Amino acid sequence: MSKSRVVVIGGGAAGFFGAITAAECGAADVLILEKGPEVLTKVRISGGGRCNVTHACFEPKDLLQSYPRGSKSLMGPFHRWQAGDTVEWFSKNGVELKTEDDGRMFPVTDDSRTVIDCLTRVARNLGVKWRTHCGVASIEILSDGSFLIETESGEKIEARSILIATGGIRSGNARKPVECVRHTMAPPVPSLFTFKIDDPRLADLQGVSVPNATVRAGTWQATGPLLVTHWGLSGPAALKVSAWGARDLAGCDYKFELRVSWVGNFSAETISGMLAAERQQHGARKVMRHSIVEGVTKRLWQKLCTAAGIEDERTWSTLTKEETRSLIEELTNGRYAVCGKSLNKDEFVTCGGVHLRDVNLKTMESKLTPGVFFAGEVLDIDGVTGGFNFQAAWTTGRIAGEAMAVRSAPTDQDFFER
Ligand SMILES: Cc1cc2nc3c(=O)[nH]c(=O)nc-3n(C[C@H](O)[C@H](O)[C@H](O)COP(=O)(O)OP(=O)(O)OC[C@H]3O[C@@H](n4cnc5c(N)ncnc54)[C@H](O)[C@@H]3O)c2cc1C
Repeated sequence: MSKSRVVVIGGGAAGFFGAITAAECGAADVLILEKGPEVLTKVRISGGGRCNVTHACFEPKDLLQSYPRGSKSLMGPFHRWQAGDTVEWFSKNGVELKTEDDGRMFPVTDDSRTVIDCLTRVARNLGVKWRTHCGVASIEILSDGSFLIETESGEKIEARSILIATGGIRSGNARKPVECVRHTMAPPVPSLFTFKIDDPRLADLQGVSVPNATVRAGTWQATGPLLVTHWGLSGPAALKVSAWGARDLAGCDYKFELRVSWVGNFSAETISGMLAAERQQHGARKVMRHSIVEGVTKRLWQKLCTAAGIEDERTWSTLTKEETRSLIEELTNGRYAVCGKSLNKDEFVTCGGVHLRDVNLKTMESKLTPGVFFAGEVLDIDGVTGGFNFQAAWTTGRIAGEAMAVRSAPTDQDFFER
């Protein structure tokens, strides 16, 4: 049997940042156990291979707005470690981040390898060790408050404190360590998915993107870029609604009515005024000829006109009241039947996880089993797309690492045992 003061279960972003922090704060003997063949796998594939490390949002209270689950609880943690701290830490360790127009922050190299190399280099320099192909099968809580970890291959490792950073809890493997330490979880459902819609209005429009659309599913609503894909709708506006409505949408088996305003926050009255002006100024012009709404492409405009019953040859002056009303409805409140979901290939997360009421958010330590800490997606925290999920991993990993270093400081008994 081997002994380690701090054992981190899961070699993802949260686990690595927790381990690095514990070592930076003086913990000796930090070991990461990763069940997969390599560490930081999700960092590698994240952001389409570029790794959207965080978001340029430097006020904790603003940052909170992007977390459908965990928002209130993150106030304290973000006051301790927020996006600005992440940027500074990476810069100090040789990774400069740049900000894109929408606020997402990536390494200037546009390569997630840069982030992985940084984390592994810093960890190695601090003496953190990691082992792959080393899934944790069970954890026993010993009478003196320490832990006996058993790996899937039957190896036993003793630890004084444990960080559980096993990521999204959809798989049994990720859940097992959590259950061993007496915790329960909000049931997992996917978040950040795209909508499957089979509708002639979207047919052949694959790749068309509208910069400022509003989508609504029940009471959930979001505004932003909306993208037509080969099988439905995606893009930040759709993904945000999928995140905020993750539980409700799972509850109806992803079959629901989506309302789409292709014109963002323009009201039906404003659009009505724009159509009336066009009719007055260009009465002889064909309606289909071009879109009169900025952001709505010609192909989309033509599809919406067809859906409103307006034929190719119709001119503005011949439009009936009913056709005009129908076009306004298509532009501002189109109804689309969603018949399923698909995971967004650039970023997806799990809604659900370890109940936050059972975790002390000042230290990320379990309130049920002292010496156990949690960080990252295993917690019932998830953000919308844009770097917020990694930010939650850095923040919770940081706080857990600091607290673990304190807990694992050598005791008098260690001194006498030496
Ligand atoms: C395709 C994709 C792209 C993404 N892109 C972005 C992005 O650009 N920006 C962003 O903010 N978020 C992104 N996300 C979300 C982000 O990757 C996660 O929120 C983040 O990785 C969570 O970090 P974590 O360390 O908690 O979990 P993970 O990164 O999932 O790491 C958990 C690790 O624990 C290991 N593990 C599980 N069970 C055990 C066990 N029993 N024993 C030992 N090890 C175990 C797993 O193998 C895994 O390596 C993306 C997600 C996906 C799927």
